[in-house]
Amino acid sequence: MKYEGTVYRPPSEARSWILQATIGCSHNRCTFCSMYKDKSFRIRKTEELIQEIHEARRQFGKLTRIFIADGDALMIRNEDLLSLIGELKSTFPECQRIGIYASPKSIHLKTEDELKRLNEAGLGIAYLGLESGSDDILQMVKKGETSEGIISAGKKIKEAGLKLSVTVISGLGGREKWEEHAKETAQAVNRIRPDFLGLLTLMLEPGTELWNQVQADGFTVLSPYEIAQETLLMLKNLDSPGCVFRSNHASNYVALKGTLNEDREGMISTLENALADGDFKEEWMRRL
Ligand code: SF4
Repeated sequence: MKYEGTVYRPPSEARSWILQATIGCSHNRCTFCSMYKDKSFRIRKTEELIQEIHEARRQFGKLTRIFIADGDALMIRNEDLLSLIGELKSTFPECQRIGIYASPKSIHLKTEDELKRLNEAGLGIAYLGLESGSDDILQMVKKGETSEGIISAGKKIKEAGLKLSVTVISGLGGREKWEEHAKETAQAVNRIRPDFLGLLTLMLEPGTELWNQVQADGFTVLSPYEIAQETLLMLKNLDSPGCVFRSNHASNYVALKGTLNEDREGMISTLENALADGDFKEEWMRRL
């Protein structure tokens, strides 16, 4: 299987076969993100992808999970996406879940009916980056969306029957805006009510705009202690029953996992203990 450049997938899709249906990200401007900087966004030909699906069957046999990448694969025209999903379902009848990366823009470009048809055809879950619920922070990192736009996109996915996984980035507001980030992100999540919420910690990548801002003292990165404080404030403000909360990625300093709201108090205690004992994972991911 030939992939173009580095292929990314959400942590929970670690065991999925990846169909690289698009190359890059349609936005590609976020100041903290280096993932697709070397790629220009394009959608691959459906016929080529169908051949790859058959090749995957020959190579891997049965597949139970499939993930459609790159950055914003929901940008694919609905009819083409329906053909791809149909091909995946008929080639891998044992497949239990098909997931995709989505952006607020690609969600808004589709009608509710189109999203429902994708879900009926077999698309099970969409991954959406909220990053922050604060408009100031979204603007600062050039996300190209308002919090309201991301909230309505998330709700639209859920209304179409798909599962929704939302990602938030701890520390994205820096020391200047950590409280705003914690509170407004929790408020946004409470309105979206995603099925899954993943908290990743901001990692600085050389070559990104944010990296240059840090070097020029234009952004202060939070310490592990401050990240834990921010997460604590976010958790205290989260009210999204049934949402599976995960903060157990390699980038996180304190591993947390539970279902909101029932496990919230337990996760708050874990964080408070870590803050009291200074018990954080070693700093190695952020190349400071
Ligand atoms: S964070 Fe997401 S939307 Fe922003 S540039 Fe990276 S892949 Fe694209």
